Amino acid sequence: MSMNKESKAQHFIDLEDKHGAHNYHPLPVVLEKGEGVYVWDVDGKRYYDFLSAYSAVNQGHCHPAIVNAMNEQAQTLTLTSRAFHNDKLGQYEKYMTEYFKFDKVLPMNTGAEAVETAIKIARKWAYEKKGVEEHAAKIIVCENNFHGRTTTIISFSNDEDARKNFGPYTPGFIKIPYNDTAALEKALQEENVAGFLVEPIQGEAGVFTPNDDFMRASRELCNKYNALFIADEIQTGIARTGGLLAVCGDCSCDAHCERQEATYARPDMLILGKALSGGAYPVSAVLADNEVMNVIKPGQHGSTFGGNPVAAAVAMAALEVVKDEKLIQNARALGSYFRAEINKYIATTDTVTLVRGKGLLNAIVINDTEDSKTAWNICLRLRDNGLLAKPTHGNIIRFAPPLVMTKEQLDECIAIIINTLKEFE
Ligand SMILES: *Cc1c(COP(=O)(O)O)cnc(C)c1O
Repeated sequence: MSMNKESKAQHFIDLEDKHGAHNYHPLPVVLEKGEGVYVWDVDGKRYYDFLSAYSAVNQGHCHPAIVNAMNEQAQTLTLTSRAFHNDKLGQYEKYMTEYFKFDKVLPMNTGAEAVETAIKIARKWAYEKKGVEEHAAKIIVCENNFHGRTTTIISFSNDEDARKNFGPYTPGFIKIPYNDTAALEKALQEENVAGFLVEPIQGEAGVFTPNDDFMRASRELCNKYNALFIADEIQTGIARTGGLLAVCGDCSCDAHCERQEATYARPDMLILGKALSGGAYPVSAVLADNEVMNVIKPGQHGSTFGGNPVAAAVAMAALEVVKDEKLIQNARALGSYFRAEINKYIATTDTVTLVRGKGLLNAIVINDTEDSKTAWNICLRLRDNGLLAKPTHGNIIRFAPPLVMTKEQLDECIAIIINTLKEFE
């Protein structure tokens, strides 16, 4: 059977539409292959990927070192469950805790699971170490947060789509405005606060980038009021924002250097996911020191697949790539260049009001109303012109390519973006 071009892509879209739950609204493009900064659709057309699966594919699509590690482990041993030991988990835990400089790691699979894990640990720490009243622990979160999709996590979302008709909601969360240290201090003065859960940059909300000192000030306030500072770096971590972590502040090294000591807002709990596997496999983790992590005892938390041998092998390979290929430094340099070039264009137009972000996590704000279709239409045209991006929250477009991009490739992408935006002037 021969299919013309349109019907081939449409065929796969129709299959999803008919047989899959309608819980997403994807851009109409059907991908079948990826390599580095590129993806190809079912008709063989090549695109620059400017979403990177929400920053899971920082190391680039199908990175050979990651794929090899996965293949090798998949042929040897895939899953033991935690009922037995295996030879990969301990190695992985040593590697992770040395890489991120925490005493211990608790391995999970998806980001939402890791956030749930951090919430459970924070509550238990509050009761057992801080002496919070039973059932009264509170966790401070920010307005417009995105931490995942479980019933507890959506309980403290203020996105109506994420929340409505999914109640009753889990209690025990206080919401404050993002980037507001005065509000944070006031909330920390309430009784029974276990911790402050925060994204160093709010990715899903539209790459809201707080003041440079927001993370450090939050760290210090949590110290002052004996609350845990919990950083959700699922999207911002692992080189994306031009530091090993966004909480590293103004430091682009991949170890913990002296300069980093001066700018690092060290969390009590660090939550990672997405790029921890380079997009090859679902791998997430919570890192903390003994004082916090040791509140969890056998039987109190777990996951059948958490820390399985394939995940362990994949994550170690993915983190090696970050160092070997200097992705932190590349993200930092290319990110500054990208914003500078987009700003030059913004100075000439009314179509885009601003570009913001850090490293290669950036977004532009389109000069139109929140409910307009302009950003969506721009993304369709970007697709036609060979670059894939997705609007977030109406009139904002996020730009987050794989971090293995070269300057020459980025120049080509900037030209595509600006020429496409000019079509909308
Ligand atoms: C993606 C994301 C999550 C949720 O991760 P899943 O793997 O989709 O469950 C949580 N927090 C942040 C900041 C994220 O970007």
